[in-house]
Amino acid sequence: MPNRSDSTSMTLSNSGAESRQVARDMQLNLRIPGPTPLPPEVLESVAKQMINHRGPEYAQLQAEVLSTLKQFYVTEGDVLLFSGSGTGGLEAAVVNTLSPGDRVLAVCIGAFGDRFASIAEAHSAQVERLNVPWGRAARVEQVTAALDGGVFRAVLITCNETSTGVMNEIPGLAAAVARCEPRPLLLVDAISALGAVELPMDALGIDVLITGSQKAWMAPPGITMLGVSAAAWEAQRTARMPRFYWDFEQQRRAQSKGQDAWTPAVTTMFALQTALRMMAAEGSAAIVERHLRLSQRTQAGLERLGFGLFAEEGYRSRTVTAATPPPGVQAKALIDRLQADYGVVVAGGQGKLAGGLIRVGHMGWVTEVHIDSALEAIARCL
Ligand SMILES: *Cc1c(COP(=O)(O)O)cnc(C)c1O
Repeated sequence: MPNRSDSTSMTLSNSGAESRQVARDMQLNLRIPGPTPLPPEVLESVAKQMINHRGPEYAQLQAEVLSTLKQFYVTEGDVLLFSGSGTGGLEAAVVNTLSPGDRVLAVCIGAFGDRFASIAEAHSAQVERLNVPWGRAARVEQVTAALDGGVFRAVLITCNETSTGVMNEIPGLAAAVARCEPRPLLLVDAISALGAVELPMDALGIDVLITGSQKAWMAPPGITMLGVSAAAWEAQRTARMPRFYWDFEQQRRAQSKGQDAWTPAVTTMFALQTALRMMAAEGSAAIVERHLRLSQRTQAGLERLGFGLFAEEGYRSRTVTAATPPPGVQAKALIDRLQADYGVVVAGGQGKLAGGLIRVGHMGWVTEVHIDSALEAIARCL
């Protein structure tokens, strides 16, 4: 951290070619919504020799990772690890709990909600989309009305919609799903939320809760984690969507022996072990508070610079802020210049929002220094 802020102030006090050189030499301030930067301790942990993934060291590593993860899931149930990106985790949730032809309600508030729905469609579920205008969150009344329209086997919801910077209010939506008779399965994409926000799986009645190592967990890409409820396991026994690599039962059996069904992303597991130790030491409540505080700092800072916040008030994400540039400023030009001159890397808009937005990630290893130096660089660019 001291190095980072030194090089940031050096960059900011210079201009032109000199500052560009500094930007290239320094560690970038990576402020995209995943992959997120690795703290120095985690960086060190990934420079380790391989181990036997069927041996005792791996079993110990896996046991530690799982037991700490369960504290963040707040679950008595199973957490499964698969090597793959978060999208793989979404697919795993679908193919293990559903059969072709099952009626599914997909609550879509942005690009990732659309992706979840498309995965279910690709596997021949009968998907009904509840399309909420981008920038807004789903309301309990909207979801209740959609659920009243028929009997659904499952409901797919995104917790934090990374494409729009909107966070759905999962407790209220989960309660609406729980009121249905028969109760649909609730599959929640919390890939860019869990670890940074409280989402106690058992208490909320979530059946499959999905996240990914490269978002709030301060680890590299490579592992998707899924919490699986008793009801999801029951569904798994009769679900007929084709599956092989993603089979929950196969993975549960392997994990009960301290192994992975296949070859795990060993390096990412090393990183997760270290990151989870750091997270356990900081404590869930402090992590949640830090993300809330830094999200508000980012939102206020961007508004001060004349940006508009894309997400509606009351539902703004605690892990990523989407903002429209001030009049006359092109998002793409700003993003390019931020990286070239200041070493600050932010994301642009996704899908139909391409070109119109910047998105600033603030999840995982993020502090006031990261946010303030990003905001200062943006101010200078403008
Ligand atoms: C990042 C993300 C995904 C996709 O994860 P990949 O690891 O890129 O496959 C899905 N949903 C949300 C909400 C995300 O933020």
